[in-house]
Amino acid sequence: MLFDERPKTRREDLFNRDEELNQLLANLHRPLIVVSGVRRIGKTSLLLVALNESKLPFILVDARKLKDNYGWKDVYGLLSQALSSSLDKIVDVIRKVRGVSILGTSVELSWKGKRYVSLADLFDHLNQKRIVIAIDEAQRLRGPLSREIREAIAHAYDYDRNLTFILTGSEVGLLYDFVGVEDHDSPLYGRYFYELRLDRFSRESGVEFLRRGFKEAGKNVDEGMIQEIVNFFDGIPGWLTLAGNYVVAGKNIEEVKEMSLGVAVNEISNLVRSKRNVSEIVGRRYRHTLKCISEGNNSWSKLYECLTRREGSTLSSNSLSNILQQLEKMSIIHDYEFLDPVYREAVKRL
Ligand code: ADP
Ligand code: MG
Repeated sequence: MLFDERPKTRREDLFNRDEELNQLLANLHRPLIVVSGVRRIGKTSLLLVALNESKLPFILVDARKLKDNYGWKDVYGLLSQALSSSLDKIVDVIRKVRGVSILGTSVELSWKGKRYVSLADLFDHLNQKRIVIAIDEAQRLRGPLSREIREAIAHAYDYDRNLTFILTGSEVGLLYDFVGVEDHDSPLYGRYFYELRLDRFSRESGVEFLRRGFKEAGKNVDEGMIQEIVNFFDGIPGWLTLAGNYVVAGKNIEEVKEMSLGVAVNEISNLVRSKRNVSEIVGRRYRHTLKCISEGNNSWSKLYECLTRREGSTLSSNSLSNILQQLEKMSIIHDYEFLDPVYREAVKRL
């Protein structure tokens, strides 16, 4: 079903991504692959479909759940969940590893004490057979332990030839920071990785996606409504899917917009809140910057002028460029424009 709101897992449910899927499958032999693109563009879906098609055993680590100042306990918690979910495929290679216990259907890992398993050890054992290790939203691994985690991945890159790592990320600049593409000190610096960037659907594909989805759902929807959905949500598959579901449930276009905006407002408020945790002033500046951009201030000078007016105070140009750089790295904006049209509207309500 095209409108199934979960990440897709089967090729026939994945709309218009044949090329990307084939590219990913053709590159699965590589040590390191990065799948990037804004939120809701279909990274997890592409990843899951490719993993299923490949028939290879895989472990899928969902890094979204990590908090900013995560520790080893959290990383090993995610890993043990991931290993447990794929236990039947990998039990043979982890059964006898020191620091790993298998209790029924769950895998427990020790990250400290006498009998602990290091990440590099674990990778070396997994390497006994061909396995894909996928880390979804891997930019969440930035932070206190990123160096050690990258060192373990770099070790596997060099020595564990049966392993392939796939990292996905919605916050593309932050994902690059984690991998350390431009950082000479990064353990992964200078190593080649294959990158697949997912783009939104073209207008025609977006329209086609909705038509097919409504047809599958047995819902008659007039062409005007379809055009209006694509106008508002652009070709971002996750928004189209959400909108499709609301329409099938009987909502009119205004209600669909309203509900989606609610989702986006919530996400963007979380972002501002996380900045407010740094300081009240920083949080406010982010909010004002976002608002100024949503009002169409699409150059440095316009934005600077808008921001000083809103703040009622002077502002160092450093401070504005830091905020802009961060927002770009989080893939919220690019060149003074929002990447997601729903975010642009949501910001007006902050
Ligand atoms: P991401 O991981 O990039 O945030 P997801 O894979 O979770 O995106 O997709 C977001 C939503 O959009 C899900 O409901 C998913 O089913 C749907 N979706 C994404 N891409 C496609 C596609 N190519 N065909 C059908 N549905 C898709
Ligand atoms: Mg995802």
